[in-house]
Amino acid sequence: MKQLEQLNFDNTFARLPATFHSSIKPTPLSRPYLVSFNTSAARLIDLSETESEREEFAQYFIGNRLLPGSEPLAMLYSGHQFGQYVQQLGDGRAILLGEINNQAGEYWDVQLKGAGPTPYSRNGDGRAVLRSSIREYLCSEAMHGLGIPTSRALCIVGSDEKVYRETVESAAVVTRISPSSVRFGSFEVFYYRKQFEQITRLADYVIAKHFPHLAKVTDKYAKFLQEVLERTAHLMAQWQAVGFSHGVMNTDNMSILGLTFDYGPFGFMENYDPGYICNHSDHRGRYAYDQQPQIALWNLSALAQALSPLVPQEQAEEILETYGDIFSARYVELMCNKLGINYAGLEDFALIRPLLEMMQASNLDYTNLFRELGNFNSAGEGNNMKLRDQFVDRTAFDAWAALYATRLSAEGCQENDRKIKMDKVNPKYILRNYLAQTAISKAEKERDFTEVDRLLSLLSRPFDDQPEMESYAATSPEWARHLEVSCSS
Ligand code: AMP
Ligand code: MG
Repeated sequence: MKQLEQLNFDNTFARLPATFHSSIKPTPLSRPYLVSFNTSAARLIDLSETESEREEFAQYFIGNRLLPGSEPLAMLYSGHQFGQYVQQLGDGRAILLGEINNQAGEYWDVQLKGAGPTPYSRNGDGRAVLRSSIREYLCSEAMHGLGIPTSRALCIVGSDEKVYRETVESAAVVTRISPSSVRFGSFEVFYYRKQFEQITRLADYVIAKHFPHLAKVTDKYAKFLQEVLERTAHLMAQWQAVGFSHGVMNTDNMSILGLTFDYGPFGFMENYDPGYICNHSDHRGRYAYDQQPQIALWNLSALAQALSPLVPQEQAEEILETYGDIFSARYVELMCNKLGINYAGLEDFALIRPLLEMMQASNLDYTNLFRELGNFNSAGEGNNMKLRDQFVDRTAFDAWAALYATRLSAEGCQENDRKIKMDKVNPKYILRNYLAQTAISKAEKERDFTEVDRLLSLLSRPFDDQPEMESYAATSPEWARHLEVSCSS
């Protein structure tokens, strides 16, 4: 494990032509202080955990000092925001320090979010507030704990400097690390500028770095599009299965590697509600929970359009047509896992759908209900009273329970084994908005970051029963029912 000054940078993106990025130094912030440090993310970049104890640590990760070997830059991209093409976006407040090539040979982008304006900031201040930094930090690690591909987060460093949003808040910088920060919009910008040679350049770069098995195959660009589509479809299946809503699925927030990234007004659904909208600025529900899979396909079509100089339209259409089946098969498979049954095919949805409908009708917590289903007794002992009592329509529950019991006995799985298996896929703990809000309030009002650390540790093991943390599995208390989360961050 290394000291800060020894990290092994190899900045491949910085070596791409100047059209791809702008060199930019972070703008200093006064009196930085460490809010939280994530040792498991530090290991990814070979950083020794004791380095966070050094006074320089906060200086480096708020952007006041530059790590040796870094070549800070802002990446250019554009994208479709809420369905409308926006000519130019780019990192408006994210600064890529560079890529760390770790001892295992992996590359990790290290990016400061909130480190000051860049040439792409438009009218923004280039800053991020402590509140949204804590949310991103916790959620990306929660997603990782859930086994969902995501950018990671190394640390949060706060500052006393003020940031003006709806109210006055304090500034912070969250350091994200991820295998790639290239997004669909990174391709779109060159397509709409008719700089087709740059599209090839970027595709070759991404393929060489992240899809090396495609580098020498015929039709590599079509296969690349196919793989991005598969990863995206799998990601959507995981989001849907866990009840995660991203909130701003613009094409500039869609990772080329199918990672969850750019956390803003995200939310984990509590009561099962297909129309759940986590982003209070999304008045029409374009990015509602149940819209996500089809929005991802819409976004993939936008990517296909940007890649059209490389992949003929007819071929791209054939690829896009595979999305529905790939998504559905993966989603139903994941839902079968949640029920503790083996995936047999799309017809398994016949068992899943009525359960979801009953959950919706009874306003049940999606996460907790699935967790409790691990205790379902397929022999009907005690009539599964504890579960049954939660449903308004008991007759419907009895009918469903009979179907489920028949299916379970056909699979011949031991009850105990099934519970163990189900507990590995049905989380006990998710990042409920009220949990994040409690940690944020303590951090903002008292400079007490213990709750951030506690949640970080809890959510890194979301499937484990952690008896001393039992209360963290509870649904939202009354005060938090109407917490509003918007794009403001
Ligand atoms: P987002 O919705 O967070 O993906 O942001 C969309 C675009 O706006 C991205 O290009 C961001 O970099 C930029 N942006 C968002 N907030 C700010 C800010 N406070 N200052 C500068 N740019 C910003
Ligand atoms: Mg973004």
